Amino acid sequence: MEKIKTGYSKDTSTPVKFLKGVGEARARMLAKLGIKRVIDLMEHLPRDYISREINPALHEVQPGDHLAFSANISWVDSRPTKGGKKMVNVGLNDGFNTLVCTWFHFPAWYEKVLKPGQSIWVNGVVNEFNRQLQMLHPEIELISDEEDTDFWKARNRLPLYPLTANLTQKQMRNLVYNAFEGYAQHIQENLPPKLIEKHGFRDRKTALQLMHFGLDPDLINQAKQRFAYEEFFFIQLLWARHKYYHKTQVQGIQFINKKQHTTALKHKLPFTLTAAQARVITEIFADMCSEKQMTRLVQGDVGSGKTVVTLFAMLLAVENGFQAALMAPTEILAEQHYATITKLLDGMEIKVCLLKGGSYKGKAQDLEDIASGHSQLIIGTHALIQAKVKYHSLGFVAVDEQHRFGVQQRANLAKKDKHPDILYLSATPIPRSLSMTVYGDLEVSIIDELPPTRKAVLTLVRSNRKIDLVWEDVRNQLQQKRQAYVVCPLVEESDKVDLLDAQRLHEHLSTQVFREFKCELIHGRMPAAEKDEIMRRFKQGEIDLLVSTTVIEVGVDVPNATVMVIEHAERFGLAQLHQLRGRVGRGAHQAYCYLIEHQPISKIAAQRLHTMVSSTDGFVIAEKDLELRGPGEFFGTEQAGLPAFRFANLITDQPILKKAKLDAFKIIAIDPELKAEEHQVLKELIKGDLHEREQLVLY
Ligand code: ADP
Ligand code: MG
Repeated sequence: MEKIKTGYSKDTSTPVKFLKGVGEARARMLAKLGIKRVIDLMEHLPRDYISREINPALHEVQPGDHLAFSANISWVDSRPTKGGKKMVNVGLNDGFNTLVCTWFHFPAWYEKVLKPGQSIWVNGVVNEFNRQLQMLHPEIELISDEEDTDFWKARNRLPLYPLTANLTQKQMRNLVYNAFEGYAQHIQENLPPKLIEKHGFRDRKTALQLMHFGLDPDLINQAKQRFAYEEFFFIQLLWARHKYYHKTQVQGIQFINKKQHTTALKHKLPFTLTAAQARVITEIFADMCSEKQMTRLVQGDVGSGKTVVTLFAMLLAVENGFQAALMAPTEILAEQHYATITKLLDGMEIKVCLLKGGSYKGKAQDLEDIASGHSQLIIGTHALIQAKVKYHSLGFVAVDEQHRFGVQQRANLAKKDKHPDILYLSATPIPRSLSMTVYGDLEVSIIDELPPTRKAVLTLVRSNRKIDLVWEDVRNQLQQKRQAYVVCPLVEESDKVDLLDAQRLHEHLSTQVFREFKCELIHGRMPAAEKDEIMRRFKQGEIDLLVSTTVIEVGVDVPNATVMVIEHAERFGLAQLHQLRGRVGRGAHQAYCYLIEHQPISKIAAQRLHTMVSSTDGFVIAEKDLELRGPGEFFGTEQAGLPAFRFANLITDQPILKKAKLDAFKIIAIDPELKAEEHQVLKELIKGDLHEREQLVLY
């Protein structure tokens, strides 16, 4: 059995399988949603609500109206789309007029549940299509007596929950109801009373009940604010504590800028540093020359030249008699850094070593050289932080693509040896306003300028109906011995579908369109070693065209690749499109990015594609991304290495975040050890539940 965590009352920590209506099988399904205890079910907040309140006559409805409507289904029509997928249309009639509801996503599911005669509620925004009232992807609620309990039947506003396969909304609603029926009296407060009073929050139990069973949208919204606040507050509390600990307990290394190796490197660089690179190097040096341990994040667009900036910092450590390490998420990236760095240091008498995982010839010697201090720069994968690797005097560590590493790995790093200075590198620009609040106590440097040698990638939006013309352009590039990427989208919920799409496309391209070229497929389900091998062959020019799901390695540099084709570009977020485009245009030749759109696409998707065509600046794109995202739209948290929030929305809840941050830091400033009576609840939570959330803290 799961260990029962403290911080919540024992009763609400009861494993969910003991709840009425659950049992072993359902408990397993719920676990997929992160629901293990009764309290997790209570905290499984609705993603939206469906109204059964208003039911106007259709002739009164205007395009743009938000409509709740109920009727029997008059007809169902499912048909293939031009893109080879399926769409489901359903006709709802009020006796005089018809409303057509249309779904492109999960057609098989809708086909299964939507039958003529079935009565349903639909909620959504109405538009006009072919002079017909239409709703695209409305929320639905099937009206059937069997499963509805009296409680839910009597309500005209129902919660819609995030679900997993084999669970229906009705079942989930009933489980939530059972949870509250049995355990509501045990729900405990988790914020100090002063804060609850200050912000005028409801108590936790009432707020949760409002979220699930509330009828008044205003009250529900107020309750939501409390949960967003809670979530931000606890993260900020962890950060505040970490900062306090760091300031009072950790003694870092104070380097001296001796201008030996660093100056030598500057003179022998084959290019001039950009102003942004020079500025960031100055910022890093200032940190390294203070006695505090550095924890700094460098954000720079793909190709902005983060590697050379890192090398300067590494050399500062080396000229002070310390070792410096650079850790990359994959072998191929580590090899790439090793090659770049040994080339840049050519003739400088600095010992560089490449350390990889697993066992291989020469590794024992490498480990010895690291332990004796013979190796001065150590480049490698996560192998660098394994316990058996003993450093002679590790003074500096850089972590490339920092979000690819787990919290434990980062924490281990920070505590290694004499608390080395740490530099995190990230290629995902996020808007300034966000980075300051999200990265807690990390210092942030931004390289907001590309080397002048980098040519902008020419970006073109093309309809899938004209894909043949795109393939002609690709062929043209391949004939000039250039290389190309073709990326297939991530389809929500099912990586099986992705794989199929990428496989099918690869099959089509390799056997039909590009028979005379070498085409390969790479996807997320391949073992890491196999992926690395394919990327290596692509890099070496043995593969002409690479079809991939979205796994292609973020930092891999293939200067000869000049074409990026993105299928179903309308389905990608801006950050991702920008990352993908950054794979090309790294060499001397003009590069192209084709965004293939499959109509119909939403207005926001069209704006995203337009943004891609009109800008190549990652920060401009990130700002636009922020602006375009509606509530509920997926935020590329993983990619940016940002924490994933359950309740809060990083974008729309910014004002709450600011308040929570102030409150948390104030509490730690006054009572850093959380000794006061009123703070006991926080102390308990930090020991228990929040322990897991500590992964959100960047060390
Ligand atoms: P990223 O920030 O994406 O990691 P890299 O460090 O790999 O970028 O640099 C991309 C390319 O740009 C490399 O080939 C590097 O040598 C080159 N480069 C870096 N700085 C400059 C500069 N100031 N001028 C010209 N080229 C540069
Ligand atoms: Mg890089």
